[in-house]
Amino acid sequence: MRFDAIIAGGTVVDGTCENEPFVADVGILGDSIAAIGALSKAETPRRISATGKVVCPGFVDVHVHSEIALLGGRDQFAAVSQGVTTHLAAPDGFGWAPLPPEQAQEMWHYTQFAYGDAVLPLNWQTPDAYLDIFHGRIPANLYPQVPHCAVRLGAMGWEARPATDAELKAMERTTREWLEAGACCLCLGLDYQPSANADLRELVFLSKIAAAYDAIYAAHIRYRILGRKQAWEETIEIAQRAEIPVHISHERVDEEAAEVLERVERENIDLTFESYLYPAGMTHLAMMLPMEFQTGAPVDMLENLENPDVREKSLAHLREELRGGNQIMGYNRSGRFIGMTLAEAAKSEGKSQEDFAFDLIQEEAAIETFVMPWATPPEENERILNRTASHPRMMIASDGVYNIPHPHPRSYGCFVQYLGKFVRERQLVSLKEAIYKMSGFPAERFRLTDRGRISRGLAADIVVFNPDTVADRSTWFDPVQPPVGVEWVFVNGISVIEAGNVTGQLPGKVLRQQ
Ligand SMILES: [Zn+2]
Repeated sequence: MRFDAIIAGGTVVDGTCENEPFVADVGILGDSIAAIGALSKAETPRRISATGKVVCPGFVDVHVHSEIALLGGRDQFAAVSQGVTTHLAAPDGFGWAPLPPEQAQEMWHYTQFAYGDAVLPLNWQTPDAYLDIFHGRIPANLYPQVPHCAVRLGAMGWEARPATDAELKAMERTTREWLEAGACCLCLGLDYQPSANADLRELVFLSKIAAAYDAIYAAHIRYRILGRKQAWEETIEIAQRAEIPVHISHERVDEEAAEVLERVERENIDLTFESYLYPAGMTHLAMMLPMEFQTGAPVDMLENLENPDVREKSLAHLREELRGGNQIMGYNRSGRFIGMTLAEAAKSEGKSQEDFAFDLIQEEAAIETFVMPWATPPEENERILNRTASHPRMMIASDGVYNIPHPHPRSYGCFVQYLGKFVRERQLVSLKEAIYKMSGFPAERFRLTDRGRISRGLAADIVVFNPDTVADRSTWFDPVQPPVGVEWVFVNGISVIEAGNVTGQLPGKVLRQQ
């Protein structure tokens, strides 16, 4: 038999949790894995020696703000350099379709903190019109989710109230359009506008529609309105009332979560979550304002901040939220203070931290992003991360933000940090299980039937890495650093990384739930 390429003699870690690693050759033909076994006699123009290397499925990132960066610009290959071959779209329910151009523009303004300075047409009247822009232009696959922010915005604008029956009907139509287009999940950002205004009735109503398409529910849960514990419990209630599998975005196993997870186990609730395993988040300062001042279209929200009473109430809130001043400026519209801490930037302007933060929101039209370190002490952070790294319901996802000057280190390092630090150095999880948490597990959970495993007939999304050297190099203050040890990455049978170098090929496809 003849193959387009053979990856020879590597240790195959196949992305399942069942099979132990085994040495084999992997033959690629077209966009598929055509054979696994002894292929030394087979013909091929391209035989890649993988002796001593791990050959595993491409990683599936279920929560990542990458879809616009995949189209071009400075970070187009940042994720694939780590081995990520499939990205889910619409994290936190962010999306711009299908919306009339004015509303799409408002939504772009609101979400730009997580997507950078891209210039987009912002006029997609159907999910497919949006998904069409990716054809032939992306290095890795894109898999759509239903973007609840766009669904709600299209049905009722930025209204901060429960939906009427007619508005729910309108949301149902758009949700169905996305599901018909192959979206695998109803995705929510319940601390973000306008999703934060959805009540439980709306979430259960839309979840039942998603469940009928065998889609799941994933959410940045309602931390700010409900508090963490109740936000977890709300998610469980949705799982039970809508009979839908649920998934919680960017979480960690500390005492509070561990308690809820015990209940999840006891009651056998169909719940998973994901972690990036760094002790800091990344978001915009506008999220630190009292919730009542975050509502409305971005221009209306900004106009409201002009009110002196609003300023005064917000300052008290910001003072508390931004204690320490160790947040790192990742991005803002005018490009000032990049890489500085909030404390340094405020000092350079001769302002208190809260005054600086409030003024920055106004001056940058709320287009600003910060790395936000956790408030817990460092030793406790490490304990929490270690405990999270091996939790059976946890999968790895980066929550990476790209196309900004100073990203969170997870954008360039999440998947390789897991392999280097948590698997090789700390030995908290076996290699087999770690690979599963980055490939087979997310693929199964998000209904990706033809990827996530090294198996004959499946799509040839394959990573070859050196288990002795694989590691992240991105740091808090030097985050744009590609990893080491990832040698080959194939997407749909085409090599996007060859011997550690980016090839520039763009073989990514838009995937659809079958
Ligand atoms: Zn989020």
